[in-house]
Amino acid sequence: MGRYLGPSCRLCRREGEKLFLKSERCFNKCSFDRRSNPPGERHRKSIAKYSDYGRQLRQKQKAKRIYGVFEKQFKRYFKNAERQKGITGENLLRILETRLDNVVYRLGFASSRNEARQLVSHNHFFVNGKRVNIPSYLVKAGDVIQVRERSQQMDRIRQALELVQQRGVAEWLNLDPERKQGVVNAIPTREQISTTIQEQLIVELYSK
Ligand code: SF4
Repeated sequence: MGRYLGPSCRLCRREGEKLFLKSERCFNKCSFDRRSNPPGERHRKSIAKYSDYGRQLRQKQKAKRIYGVFEKQFKRYFKNAERQKGITGENLLRILETRLDNVVYRLGFASSRNEARQLVSHNHFFVNGKRVNIPSYLVKAGDVIQVRERSQQMDRIRQALELVQQRGVAEWLNLDPERKQGVVNAIPTREQISTTIQEQLIVELYSK
C-alpha cells in the first residue's frame, strides 16, 4: 500500500484531534479549529461509540499517521519494543520518537514530519559527521545532527527554525540554531515525549 496522498486535515478530523501533519498552517491557520467533525456521514453520528477494538485501532492509526509509518514497519517496531526491557508501549513510542525524521522535526529543522522525511532523504543532514539519508535511522544518546553546510541557507530550514520558537524544542534534545546543529542529550523518557497517543491501547490491540 502506498503513502496516503489525500488531504492531511481530513486525517486530523478522522482522529478527532490536531495531528500537526502540515507545517506553519497547523499553528496559525488550522482548519480543525473551524471544522472538526469526522469525515463522512456515518462517522458524524458515531464517533463516541467505538468498541474497545475500535478505540485500540484508532490509537494505532493515530500513531502511524503522526509518525508517517506504514503498517509493516509499525509492526516491526512493535516486535522490537516487545523484545526490549521495560514497558512495551513506552519502548514503542521511544523507537518512533528516535527516528531521524522525527528528531529533525523536533529540533526545528523542518516544520512537519513529512517535510523532515523529505529533507533527510534529499541528503541535507549529517549524523556524527556522516551523511545519513534514511528517515527511519534511529538516533542514540550523544548523536549530533547537523544541517549540511550547503543546505544551511535553505528557506525551508530557516522558516522552520523560526516556527520552532513557537512550539519549542523537545527537552531531550539540544539545539544550536546558529550552527544549525542539534544534540541528542538522552533517549527520552515517556514523560518527555509530548503526544496524546495512548500506547497501552496499541499494546492491547497487538496482544489479541
Ligand atoms: Fe491537522 Fe495541521 Fe490540518 Fe490543522 S492544519 S487539521 S493540525 S493537518
